[in-house]
Amino acid sequence: MNQYETDALVSQFHHAGYQVVDYSTPADITVINTCTVTSQSDQKSRNTINHAARKNPDGMVVVTGCMANNHKEQLEANEKITYVVDNERKSQIVSLVDAHFKGELVHPETYPGDVFGFETVDKSLHTRTSIKIQDGCDNFCTYCIVPSVRGRAVSRPLGEILENIRRVVDNGFKEIVITGVNIGRYDFEQYNLERAIDKIVELPGDFRIRISSMEPDGFGPDFHKVFQHPKMAPHLHLCIQSGSDVILRKMRRMYSTQSFMDIVSAFRKEISDFNFTTDVIVGFPGETEKDFTETIKAVKEARFSHVHTFRYSRRKGTRADRLEEQTAEKIKSERAETIRQISEENRLIYMESMLGKQQRVLIEKVNNKGMAQGYGECYLPVQFPTTLRSKNVFQDVLLEKVEPVDTPFILATDQSFNP
Ligand code: SF4
Repeated sequence: MNQYETDALVSQFHHAGYQVVDYSTPADITVINTCTVTSQSDQKSRNTINHAARKNPDGMVVVTGCMANNHKEQLEANEKITYVVDNERKSQIVSLVDAHFKGELVHPETYPGDVFGFETVDKSLHTRTSIKIQDGCDNFCTYCIVPSVRGRAVSRPLGEILENIRRVVDNGFKEIVITGVNIGRYDFEQYNLERAIDKIVELPGDFRIRISSMEPDGFGPDFHKVFQHPKMAPHLHLCIQSGSDVILRKMRRMYSTQSFMDIVSAFRKEISDFNFTTDVIVGFPGETEKDFTETIKAVKEARFSHVHTFRYSRRKGTRADRLEEQTAEKIKSERAETIRQISEENRLIYMESMLGKQQRVLIEKVNNKGMAQGYGECYLPVQFPTTLRSKNVFQDVLLEKVEPVDTPFILATDQSFNP
């Protein structure tokens, strides 16, 4: 979601007449869209703030994002930062910067909050673009700081979403990622997520829809059916967090391992190649060897092709932070490494299982050796020789061989290609 909001800011600055430059180029203004989900993300955000201030000593540094909500006072006391803008007012940053250059003295909080106040993206840092349909969360998982920094769940009116997608498709985007903090809870008038997607895929144009990341609760038992539509990419990042029911209860997650597996089976029954990826937290307070073994079992059984592994990170103000039996960092690191290895094995198994099949690749880049790179609908990285020179084009290819390099990809052929 931060990526979407950053892209939207890029478009807003561009429309207002600013030149958006690469981070390595000196800049008059640097906007840092921070994350605070773990202590590691806080540290990365701090390093970026320090680096940006050193790199552009006469420039303006604007810090926004979840860290701006979570550590506001600390950031406001930092003299290197010109403005600290909370998530609610992120969409107002261009107006704030404009006012600053006109010599007006403004405080970010004089602007009204509007979490959906971003313009349509027409100038993105990426080939695919995202649309925020929802913000905030009412789930209050015990480890999570997000509800405190993003607020309660709110859904964007469906008419605005449809209009926004129509415009990004007109702007040439071919892959649109639907994003939000907890999109399974989308709820606007009579539309839940399934009904909203039904309306989105009816829109005209050659584009496909990808869902960013979802919690395994909130959507109905027939949710998998929306993926039968050819515009829906058969890939879902469905967050399991743990394979132990004891830990899931302590996390206050709203499902059991079995009900999670039932969702995975229902999807794969409908679309056998469906690609699931996930998040796992290792070392949650009180996680025993037995609990961790259950997580390993679940990760193997669900055949996630990628596991984004987090070492549990204490966040002040959350219930899990107050739990006793915090897990030692060494154990967290060992468990994270175990999951990382299983994730790599799973990825290769999934890639091998896709050989001989077709994928529709959205080209993101063509290198100087004539190799196109991009992702198929199942979110597999694919490379193939081509005479095409342009990116942002769909190409049907046949998957032929897994290249098991550091970041594996699949070599494919475009059958209309004649070298
Ligand atoms: S559902 Fe997601 S965002 Fe909401 S509290 Fe749980 S982990 Fe955080």
